[in-house]
Amino acid sequence: MAVSPAIDPSRAPWLTASDTRAVLAAVMAGGKAARLVGGCVRDALIGRTVTDIDIATPESPPRVMELLIAAGLKAVPTGIEHGTVTAVVRGKPFEVTTLRRDVMADGRHAVVAFTDDWTEDAARRDFTINALSADPDGRVHDPFGGVADLAAGRVRFVGEPQARIREDVLRILRFFRFHAHYGQGAPDTAGLAACRELAPLLPRLSAERVAAELLRLLRAPDAASTVRLMADTGILAPILPELTGIERLRGLQDVDELAAGDPLLRLLALLPDDPGVAGTVAERLRLSNADRERLVAAAGPPTAFWPAHSERDLRRALHRLGTQAVRDLGLLALARGDAAFGRQAVAAAQVWQPVALPVKGQDALDLGVPAGPRVGELIGAVERWWEDGDYRADRAACLAHLRSLVGKAAT
Ligand code: ATP
Ligand code: MG
Repeated sequence: MAVSPAIDPSRAPWLTASDTRAVLAAVMAGGKAARLVGGCVRDALIGRTVTDIDIATPESPPRVMELLIAAGLKAVPTGIEHGTVTAVVRGKPFEVTTLRRDVMADGRHAVVAFTDDWTEDAARRDFTINALSADPDGRVHDPFGGVADLAAGRVRFVGEPQARIREDVLRILRFFRFHAHYGQGAPDTAGLAACRELAPLLPRLSAERVAAELLRLLRAPDAASTVRLMADTGILAPILPELTGIERLRGLQDVDELAAGDPLLRLLALLPDDPGVAGTVAERLRLSNADRERLVAAAGPPTAFWPAHSERDLRRALHRLGTQAVRDLGLLALARGDAAFGRQAVAAAQVWQPVALPVKGQDALDLGVPAGPRVGELIGAVERWWEDGDYRADRAACLAHLRSLVGKAAT
């Protein structure tokens, strides 16, 4: 891939957009420079869509706050002690970070000092492709050969890989994440060897950081090849010992026009069909309650109607488990190669309109049933009858059935 050493402003609308210009102009108004840094430069050079715009400057964080405010922009001190101020222009955030160098890093924590040296700031970044910066006119600064590495699809550490991993163990996972998204061919030998050697340090990382990197990795179009590589390198045993199959992830990638690169579903594809295991993984990775419930629901419902053998079973699953779970289960079935059933489940989830039982406990009370457990039993019986009838009975029919049950009980 040919990579130009400059961002062509005519092909990078985000660079010339008035919001970006306003932030750059505000930061530079004190007479010092500002550059675009990190992911936006890397992605622009290979024609990928840029969403997050990060800016660096030698101005101090309090000075950046002043300059933004003086220009009439909103300034939020999001990480001011680490050097980051967020400028917000018409709702869009721009992170403005003061140039930094590492004073101390022990694998988990880092102490930074501010600097006015652009190369020092680039040297503390993880990979050469992430150490690029660009002037506001698009001219790229490339202190470590990142442009060539980007073109070659090579994720290479800035500096000595082992030393850089010992400073921050998360870089092991970032190496694979960036390889999954930007790599071509075999990974960098020295980087891979260092990751293999230092994999035993992975359990030191906080669950949140591991989860964030893992899920970002799983978004890559061919995440499965990198997951395979990680498993072979001993990276996954310390962080995802439950991993069972990578083949199902490949299968899911094959139906990606339906699955849309959903990282949670991709994670589930790697795990055994066991709600208990899914719950354990979700808890260890500190996923949100909603995400944990989704994983558990799609890991295998313990019910008589799943796997669904008929349209009616499918509707029952949709009603009891919800559309998200049935869609997830359908996609996992597709990933296993069960095409007919998987497509049917996905299609059914697409069109399903949720239904609600049209009678309530109050209806039983109104028929003279005394308050107590009997009310719930009666409504439960109506619900089973309504489900057996495929949710077709309306309120009048359900009431009539309830009345007949109450009458039967009375006699
Ligand atoms: P993405 O588009 O996926 O967000 P990104 O390059 O912006 O990619 P981030 O994780 O958001 O990635 O980090 C922003 C930049 O900060 C990186 O490009 C890199 O220069 C630097 N960086 C982030 N985390 C680390 C780290 N653990 N060690 C060294 N540098 C890092
Ligand atoms: Mg980013």
